[in-house]
Amino acid sequence: MRAVRYLRKGEFAVVDAPRPELRDPKDAIVRVTMASICTSDLHIRDGHVPRAVPGTIVGHEFVGVVEEIGPEVSNVSVGDRVAVCVETFCGSCFYCERGWVNNCTDPDGGWALGCRIDGGQAEYVRVPHADTGLDRIPDNVTDGQALLVGDILATGYWAAGMTECGAGDVVAVIGAGPVGVCTAVCLKRLGVRTVMIDIDDSRLTFSKEHGVGDIHLNPKRDDVISVIKGMTDGRGADAVVEAAGGKGTFDDAWRCARPNGIVCLVAMYGEPQSLPLPDMYGKNLVFKTGGVDASKDGEILALISKGEIDVSFLLTHRFPFSRVEEAYELFESGGDGVMKVALTFE
Ligand SMILES: [Zn+2]
Ligand SMILES: [Zn+2]
Repeated sequence: MRAVRYLRKGEFAVVDAPRPELRDPKDAIVRVTMASICTSDLHIRDGHVPRAVPGTIVGHEFVGVVEEIGPEVSNVSVGDRVAVCVETFCGSCFYCERGWVNNCTDPDGGWALGCRIDGGQAEYVRVPHADTGLDRIPDNVTDGQALLVGDILATGYWAAGMTECGAGDVVAVIGAGPVGVCTAVCLKRLGVRTVMIDIDDSRLTFSKEHGVGDIHLNPKRDDVISVIKGMTDGRGADAVVEAAGGKGTFDDAWRCARPNGIVCLVAMYGEPQSLPLPDMYGKNLVFKTGGVDASKDGEILALISKGEIDVSFLLTHRFPFSRVEEAYELFESGGDGVMKVALTFE
């Protein structure tokens, strides 16, 4: 089968790889029908993900059809269309019991697919712990609507929950890229007023055109803090989601929060950030950090099925898997207004 493999730092290649087989009674083999490229794939290629293992087939955002199951798999059956979770998790350890599946203590726990074990930019993939990692896609939900459920939509859903905000609250979302958009879509469902902040006007325009966010600000032009204060009787944002990870965006995040606000750091930073405690003394902020605990994919699919969430508009470009190199080039260049690419398999 054809697959995209991480060869060594700086190099991915499309290779012929053996078709995966069941290894554990809890495994399933999934035939991939649609996959996407994530910024984290580029981070792996560039050597910024220390735990990524060279030789691994990449891809951690994909949907497919169950081809084979081990004897201990009971939640999905052969022939089911499924969304695959970016995280594999046992479902029973200390962390899994609390929904903190990113830190599952199983050897395959957390972000393993497409990082430490073979992932889904391939025709077939072996998914460990299939009962927790696969969710059946409802009949009225398309592959395109389900494609982002396992990774960036799970992240947006989780980030929206972390803000602890509801109807009438104001949340600033820094970064109007795919994760920021998913977060804002999930916040809208909760009745939150959302301020989208980005230095790229085309991304702000994309958000506006798709009804994402209530106010759209570019810090190069707009005085972000005073606009937010104007919306909140001078207080500042009730919560902030930092989904940009750019230069100075960590600082922007805590500065636009109101006292006792919640600052959610979802971005993956390339460099350490400084926490200027003397400047923030008395502001009594709550910081929440980390990578998604993607334990609610089934809940998200049900909301998509009910028409409450749909982020398929993020799939701005589609390529057959035979043109995956071209898809990578476009995604990395950011050209032609690309947000996400969908790779399709015939
Ligand atoms: Zn990702
Ligand atoms: Zn676990």
